[in-house]
Amino acid sequence: MLPGRLSEEFLAKVRELLHKAAEEEVEYGAAICFSEEKGLFLGEACRGDECGIESPDMVGCPPGSTRVGFFHVHTDPHLVWSESDFETFLTTEWIKIACLAALGQEHILCSDFGEYPVRSGLYILASGEREEGRDLLMAFSRIGSAISGYHLSWFVKEWDNEEPADMMWELLLSLEQAADTCNSLADLFGEEAFRYCFLGALHGAFKEILKERSTPLEELKKKLEEES
Ligand SMILES: [Zn+2]
Repeated sequence: MLPGRLSEEFLAKVRELLHKAAEEEVEYGAAICFSEEKGLFLGEACRGDECGIESPDMVGCPPGSTRVGFFHVHTDPHLVWSESDFETFLTTEWIKIACLAALGQEHILCSDFGEYPVRSGLYILASGEREEGRDLLMAFSRIGSAISGYHLSWFVKEWDNEEPADMMWELLLSLEQAADTCNSLADLFGEEAFRYCFLGALHGAFKEILKERSTPLEELKKKLEEES
């Protein structure tokens, strides 16, 4: 079960590992431990390949507590589980709760892999509070935005050299890829997840376009007006 908030001890360790990951540009991980007295807290930490997500067994918890999950830091700004993350969490018996922080993100994503469908919550890094009510929607909209941001980033750079028709074609292709990814989320989280995820992707895509490329869109509009 995901807690209502993350403790200050938990957050302090997350900030420490985020700092190290940023400084060394290497992923960090840690066991998530539970005791009646402290609730959830982070145990032994590991660095880079030695705690690769394929071998989370590297990390342990202090005596008197139980190892219930795995936390790690992504060195890219995407607060979204990778394919191998999903695979590991769903196939490693002791991992019930998994939490993720990413460089530049102000939230921690936690998912409860001990239940089905898998539930996710977003926690504010500064306070540890859970985003109440809208947390699931936000989690998926952020996941979707990150996915679309990733798919869009590779072609947005090329837009200066593209005809508007090609541009829109590329956009459709990238949204198609986002839909594929959202579909795989739907398998894990249930049907509604697809809607949230894809809405997030659309939102992310348009935000990206408006932010990065207002000029080509203006030109596209002009060109369409001229043609009509
Ligand atoms: Zn990961």
